[in-house]
Amino acid sequence: MFDVEKIRADFPALKQLINEQPLVYLDSAATTQKPQAVIAATEQFYARNNANVHRGRHTLSEQATLAYEQARATVAAFFNITANELVWTKGATEAINLVTNGLSEQLDNQSTIVISALEHHANIVPWQQLAKRTGATLLTLPLQQNGRFNVEQCVNFIEQHKPTVLAITHASNALGNITPLETILHAAKQQHTITLVDGAQAALHLQPNLQQLGCDFYVFSAHKMLGPTGLGGLYGRYERLNSLAVYQTGGEMIETVTLTETTFRQAPAKFESGTPNIAAVIAFSAAIKYLVSLDKTNVYTHEQAIFNYAVEKLQLIDGITIYSDINNNIGTLCFNYKDEHPFDIATLLDGYGVAVRSGHHCAQPLMQHLGINGSVRASFAFYNNHKDVDLFIAALQECIALLD
Ligand code: PMP
Repeated sequence: MFDVEKIRADFPALKQLINEQPLVYLDSAATTQKPQAVIAATEQFYARNNANVHRGRHTLSEQATLAYEQARATVAAFFNITANELVWTKGATEAINLVTNGLSEQLDNQSTIVISALEHHANIVPWQQLAKRTGATLLTLPLQQNGRFNVEQCVNFIEQHKPTVLAITHASNALGNITPLETILHAAKQQHTITLVDGAQAALHLQPNLQQLGCDFYVFSAHKMLGPTGLGGLYGRYERLNSLAVYQTGGEMIETVTLTETTFRQAPAKFESGTPNIAAVIAFSAAIKYLVSLDKTNVYTHEQAIFNYAVEKLQLIDGITIYSDINNNIGTLCFNYKDEHPFDIATLLDGYGVAVRSGHHCAQPLMQHLGINGSVRASFAFYNNHKDVDLFIAALQECIALLD
């Protein structure tokens, strides 16, 4: 049984009033709220266990190193990968940049990079830069007018262009649409394409088994998975990962240094220069343990029930246009009301304690593709309940009455 009220009690931020109204937090796609276990792990580290890792021979440092590496193993197990295939970064953005920089020497003007119009800017701009540096051709996978992939079209495109690299999102941050990855990745594999999947949005909701998924690289952000900000991860199939050129250089990632030459360690160490965000890594493993303690199927079923309830209610309001694929979604509702500015709706909703996002959602090419300047985005997580939806819809109706 999934007891959402018991779960909500684990998230202190959900208990507060915003503008004298109970907070209705519908911005989990931007960042999720944090369970008490994550807050406690952060405090515990700084209060008692604080020391640098991989350096000292003293007890605290050894304990910190152990906790840091255990956290890597916990998160790796969650994704069904091995610990040495997981690199800590400061977010999904840095993880993608690590890959695009690391591939610079492997690509040239005969190479083809394929991205899609569904991507967050973080999975567009680094590839544009890589194409500029190497002379590679940058192409986009066909996306239907409604923001959905036609699998057959995608497969044909991949067979025709035989890309060197394919970078694609697991779920759209703006629409919540889930990408039909299985077939697309299979087609890419047939062409020996290097594949990177942006899991920043999907990882919390779909809890992917990365070995099964079969991509070469997968990136995620801890803060969108109940964990702290300033931390993310890069999964890389080991040979692929180790074949990337070093990204940032400095201490910790080296084997030997002379004043003129350096040799580097193997992955993941060679990509983790300097002192890492130790507290965040440890707190993130607390987040993952918390998530794993909730049954995956129950979590997903609850999220889908809340999402469907919200869709049902929103569809009853005249003048609402929904852009999300409501049948294939991680729980993100992208919509507009008539031609009202999404910013005005989000601002008015905030007055009722309802937190949503408005704007282009760092997905300007997608907005252009959909023929809009921006939208309102209400994104749900497993800690949302039916009351959140009722309060959101009631507040939206009042906002609309003010705007009409
Ligand atoms: N990709 C997607 C799909 C995202 O939603 C985000 C964050 N909005 C990112 C990448 C970048 O993540 P971060 O800002 O945590 O690096």
